[in-house]
Amino acid sequence: MTKKTKISWSKLSLYEQCPYKWKRAYIDKVRELPSEALLRGRKEHKRMENLILQRQLPEGEPVLSSFLEMYIYNPYIKNIKVEGSELKREYSSFILNGRVDVIVIYNNGKVVVVDWKTGHGEADEDQLKFYCLLALDFIPENFTHFEATFFYLDGGYFSGMKKYSLEDIKEFEEDIIKRCNKLLNEKEYKRKPNKYCYWCNFISECSNILKKYKFPESIDSIEKAIDIWQKKMLADAFSRKAEELLRNYLMKTGNKIINKKDFTKMELVIPEPELKFSYLTKEDIIDILLVTKKNNGLSKEKLKKMRLNQLKELMLSG
Ligand code: SF4
Repeated sequence: MTKKTKISWSKLSLYEQCPYKWKRAYIDKVRELPSEALLRGRKEHKRMENLILQRQLPEGEPVLSSFLEMYIYNPYIKNIKVEGSELKREYSSFILNGRVDVIVIYNNGKVVVVDWKTGHGEADEDQLKFYCLLALDFIPENFTHFEATFFYLDGGYFSGMKKYSLEDIKEFEEDIIKRCNKLLNEKEYKRKPNKYCYWCNFISECSNILKKYKFPESIDSIEKAIDIWQKKMLADAFSRKAEELLRNYLMKTGNKIINKKDFTKMELVIPEPELKFSYLTKEDIIDILLVTKKNNGLSKEKLKKMRLNQLKELMLSG
């Protein structure tokens, strides 16, 4: 019997964002360096989990504190589940899986789903519905409806409660089955430039798209508009990447500002290495060194014995 493919929300949304990027990540299995944002996100999720489990309210974060208070000290709540084990729903050709940050089950049958977010990325309502779908196994006999929200930890605000009936989630399930089957039947894996190209590890593999680009005289169809918009996204990403390369060069060489003729309009602020990695723990840095093979052949145990500053120097080395 062939093993069914597991499809999480991030896997599906990555495919829908750019099939080529999905192929590089999941078929060619090119390992990606965990971004600082990802590592910080993991840490924040752990912090939230601990706050709920230990029934603590954070100091200096009033909105988050009152948000948690609604759940931690609420006598009308029957059960509260925080991220832990993987939730699954099995279909004929794939398995949907994922971890839902918080599921709150009320005595009156209401079920609330919360997803913690770090950064200020756009909220995709389908992601909330996806988590409600995974939470179906927990709905009580007297289930009335789902309420779901994103809580943005950096800004200390939440996106507003969305309300879904069982029928809404069942309808969404039909849609998600079609989307997952499209992923499973994909053969072409075309590049699809988008606003996240700048953060894509495979950007250097996409320069061909712009090679034969001719500036358009006019836009007379939606297809042309999409094509131009996609090329603009990629060109923007290339330009920002070029700036990043310049910054790194300046950081390495110790120059504070480029003031030569060719760069007179440029005033790059040089990021301090200390600031850039300030929230990474020693363990995070060791993980990154091992994944990026910047460990100079040293084992994890040997890296653990090094001082934090030495590890940071290794990380910044060329
Ligand atoms: S840079 Fe953009 S187009 Fe190229 S693989 Fe990444 S997401 Fe796709």
